[in-house]
Amino acid sequence: MSLDGRVALVTGSTSGIGLGIARALAGQGADVMINGFGDAAQIEQLRAGLAKEFGVRVVYCGADIGKPDEIAGMVAQAQRDLGSLDILVNNAGIQFTANVEDFPDEKWNAIIATNLSGVFHGMKAAIPGMKQKGWGRIINIASVHGLVASPQKVAYVAAKHGVVGMTKVAAIELANAGVTVNAICPGWVLTPLVQKQLDDRARQEGTDIEHEKRAFLTEKQPMAEFSTPEEIGALTVFLCSEGARTITGASLPIDGGWVAH
Ligand code: NAD
Repeated sequence: MSLDGRVALVTGSTSGIGLGIARALAGQGADVMINGFGDAAQIEQLRAGLAKEFGVRVVYCGADIGKPDEIAGMVAQAQRDLGSLDILVNNAGIQFTANVEDFPDEKWNAIIATNLSGVFHGMKAAIPGMKQKGWGRIINIASVHGLVASPQKVAYVAAKHGVVGMTKVAAIELANAGVTVNAICPGWVLTPLVQKQLDDRARQEGTDIEHEKRAFLTEKQPMAEFSTPEEIGALTVFLCSEGARTITGASLPIDGGWVAH
């Protein structure tokens, strides 16, 4: 398998896109550290299930990506428990929607801490080991909202544009170190993060979920389909492959044509 012997850390991988990415990397033979919030027994079941299904080592770390010291500790734990850290996927993220003038300060601070600063602290902690080894892959899960904006998402759009920018900076710095740094920019993916937005709007508009699913897609994407966590995982695996050796500093939409529109 293409990632045999590699060690990957996927932040926010107890759910949604992160879980799809962790499964895809494990499916290619990588040992994986998973991270994220949730019920301890369910996370342990997930961890053991991944290890058994793919025959790789899987460990869990409950670090809060909003806290820099916990991120540094998590990277150190991956290096200690799994031997190195070759692939870092900065995926953990949260959302909140309101107009700028109504946006609560604590929601702004939380989104910036997790979606923006968490990516910086993850890269900062992981880069020295990758440089030493002369091989590394950093994949930052940004969003179409790293490239274009939507109303009511001021903190999210600011954070994701920042992720696209810092991806370019790190890519340039590491261009001759054997380490590539790229961002993936998904459009709509039907995960708990989006389900909450669907539920909220169906409640506000007095419609049903199926109606809002269609509305979400047709408002933004020429292709009236959600991307899936498996598809984001497949793109991540490609970026980790030797075929992607010279792709760096890129922000790749996987969005049913959203940003082409
Ligand atoms: P999700 O809510 O299904 O999963 C988020 C994961 O992050 C969970 O495992 C959660 O426990 C974890 N998490 C949240 N805050 C954390 C913290 N402080 N510390 C550690 N873990 C934390 O969401 P998702 O839709 O899978 O989103 C994953 C990423 O993809 C996010 O960065 C999101 O912005 C991005 N994204 C999602 C979509 C979409 O349509 N779903 C589109 C574009 C980008």
